[in-house]
Amino acid sequence: MKLCTATLFTISLLQAQSTWFDPQMLEQPALSKAFDSVKARESQLIEEWIRLTETSAPSGKEQKRGTYIRAELAKLSVVEIHTDDMGNISAVRKGTGGGRSVVFAAHMDTVFPEGTPLNVKRDGNTLRAPGIGDDTGNLMATLEMFRTLDRAGIKTKGDLIFLASVQEETGLIGMRHWLPKSGYNPDLVVAVDLASPEVWYGAFRIDQLKFIYTSKGAHTLESRGQPNPAHAVARAIEKIYEIQLPPVASGIGAFKLPVINVGMISGGTVVNAIPREAWFTVDLRSLDSSTQDRLSTAVVTAAKGASESIGVGFKMENKMGIDYGNALSAEQRRAHPLVHTATDLANHFRKPGIPVMEPSDAGATDANIGISLGKPSVAVGAISYKGPHTLEEAAEADSLVPGVKMLVSLAIACSVMN
Ligand SMILES: [Zn+2]
Repeated sequence: MKLCTATLFTISLLQAQSTWFDPQMLEQPALSKAFDSVKARESQLIEEWIRLTETSAPSGKEQKRGTYIRAELAKLSVVEIHTDDMGNISAVRKGTGGGRSVVFAAHMDTVFPEGTPLNVKRDGNTLRAPGIGDDTGNLMATLEMFRTLDRAGIKTKGDLIFLASVQEETGLIGMRHWLPKSGYNPDLVVAVDLASPEVWYGAFRIDQLKFIYTSKGAHTLESRGQPNPAHAVARAIEKIYEIQLPPVASGIGAFKLPVINVGMISGGTVVNAIPREAWFTVDLRSLDSSTQDRLSTAVVTAAKGASESIGVGFKMENKMGIDYGNALSAEQRRAHPLVHTATDLANHFRKPGIPVMEPSDAGATDANIGISLGKPSVAVGAISYKGPHTLEEAAEADSLVPGVKMLVSLAIACSVMN
């Protein structure tokens, strides 16, 4: 009997620790008030979402969006509204003390260059425009989450930090700067950057390598027998695609990792000369550091070997190179209450008819930086969309309200309502 009680106690303690979400918390009057207020603003919010989508924000040129976000933050009960030297915008909603601090990061940039037509086409519940989902819809939902907490007069114990990050799409550059250097050191990192109801707790290891081959060049008439950088590019790419990849990793949905992709190739200036320079890029992604390191070494060896066998100059650049030496193991990350809580809430607020979602050991968002620093981190999605990074990107207008409710609940579950 005594043993039995002790066992039960241990089990209930473990269960209590596995998630911070208790469905009863949604019954509280302050939450009903918060949820009703979001629903009442639905058409207004969708209009704002459309305007924000039509405000261009290529990576590195997020200023117009940033100006708008900053002005909206100034209307809220937040402090320390700050634009850092990269353009990341953050603000702190102070807690009353004693709770976990959480940063909610949504990125402002899109992959679409300046001049891309961004006008949103509305067809019933479908909103079509480049960037409507990734990440404008999530940015909109995150901003509205902070407003909703204000409207309902909700206080939390922990600080809630809003972050509109820059240059996420070009290598998580904004977050790489902000998280270690902002001085906030939040306990938990939530990237709002997926399509609901997805939850990711991993961090793809990513190397984005550029291999550059050089020669002094020569006219075609003087080129016979001379080393050619274009030839080295061809040989290197051939060798790289001969690298044996391990079997496809499971548990990451439709993605097939590890993977090596040659995405860009260029060189030369005229048809009748040996190029002085030719180059190509490799995007290499794996689930874990040891696989990534092994494949990265193989890629670099192949690329360097081509320069030696052809006899041309060689340089390389690595745009990512995030150090995951401090990252927790996949099992530790999966078991963290933050991941359980995010999963429970994503499932609770998912659209009727969508199957129960299991979180993935995937990751290519600002949460990767949290993971690299050993912080509990997760990526979630507030809205439903498809076709990110394409001109046909489309989102569901009616996913915004449940997405905001999900974020409000997640903020309260993590930082504890006072
Ligand atoms: Zn994104």
